[in-house]
Amino acid sequence: MQPLRTIKMNVTARTEWAVEASKIAQNSEIPLMETIRTWKANPNKAIISFTSEDPTDQYNFKTSKETLNAIFHTIQTGKNNGYAPSVGYENSRNAVAEYMSKKGVELTAKDIILCSGCSSALDLCLTVMVDGRRNQNVLIPKPGFYLYKMLAKSLGISVKEYDLLPNDDWQINLYDLDRKIDSNTAAVLISNPSNPCGSVYSTKHLLDIVEICDRHKIPIIADESYDQLVFNANFVSLGALETTVPILICGGLSKGFLVPGWRLGWILIVDPIDAFQTIRKGLVSLTQRIIGCNTVIQGALPTILNANSDFIDDVNENLKKNATVAFEAFQIDGLKPYMPQGALHMIIGIDLNKFRFNTSMEFLQKFYEEESVHCLPSEVFGVSGFMRIILVNTTDEIIEASERLTNFCKKYIL
Ligand SMILES: *Cc1c(COP(=O)(O)O)cnc(C)c1O
Repeated sequence: MQPLRTIKMNVTARTEWAVEASKIAQNSEIPLMETIRTWKANPNKAIISFTSEDPTDQYNFKTSKETLNAIFHTIQTGKNNGYAPSVGYENSRNAVAEYMSKKGVELTAKDIILCSGCSSALDLCLTVMVDGRRNQNVLIPKPGFYLYKMLAKSLGISVKEYDLLPNDDWQINLYDLDRKIDSNTAAVLISNPSNPCGSVYSTKHLLDIVEICDRHKIPIIADESYDQLVFNANFVSLGALETTVPILICGGLSKGFLVPGWRLGWILIVDPIDAFQTIRKGLVSLTQRIIGCNTVIQGALPTILNANSDFIDDVNENLKKNATVAFEAFQIDGLKPYMPQGALHMIIGIDLNKFRFNTSMEFLQKFYEEESVHCLPSEVFGVSGFMRIILVNTTDEIIEASERLTNFCKKYIL
């Protein structure tokens, strides 16, 4: 080794420090969230928050004993402390295949990739399917979960938004979807059950969507992370349809099993006509970037997926009860609640023509400042004129919040 001081350094690369975060990092910010975090509540009123994505914040939404015991047992065996294959253990992937076959989706372990949560699954699907450098775009729903746009933007992918129809149970505006697809479209992203809308699509609607994608020969990325949380409809997976359209389905344990912190998600490769050969290979390569996901949770996965049906029925019953209470309680002049069919949320329309506010962002900031009730404005999901509440609070909190909102609306209605 040459001692450093003997190396002659005659040219400097820079004369001053200039270290800057990469574009990918800068573009991974979630727009508006930072601003919303700076909102101040009324110091004289107890805060009621409906903003969280995390159901476990609430005492009556805890995961089941079976799920916890599966983890205790897995740790005790001492067998899950090493690396798994980057796509996941084969028997854990088999367990997901078995779980999906109960939903009519026929797969084997080779069609399944385990990921670090559904967000990581979505990240991999966008990365493998859409190439910003080839000018490709992805279609996403409006309103839609904020992660879609952020992930695409950070990967340099452009998004085009297709409209959902509030007065048609938030189904997709099929004409708009059809019209927005162009020759650079690499994938259509479908969110079902939907966050933030709470919609669950019928088989007929799913078949219409698939028909459009088939005509244009555009594959689908489906976010089915709420597949278990359905209380006013029947859930049908896109993977259960008879179609030749290739589909990547993203899902996981986070929401349905109430363990978002455990970070276990999956990608299901539904490929009836073998159109995904390079996509399969690409996904496997991408999993090697982080050498796969948590092996303890993978070890417990077969037990978790097999043991929980009563627990999930209870969770859905609680959600349905809360949705019913909220739907009644938020019938307020100037507002319009939309009854959800699934997921964890309810959307409430704000008729901005009737209030002294220009945007739902302004409305909800003022509501928080005066009444200490925190709800997300729909601007976060790409549209104005709505608010989103989460349905895991106690019924007392829902009623109390609706009373405060009634007073607030009376004060500011024109
Ligand atoms: C919460 C959520 C996710 C991310 O879930 P994780 O499994 O915790 O990464 C993905 N999509 C939607 C629609 C969500 O609401």
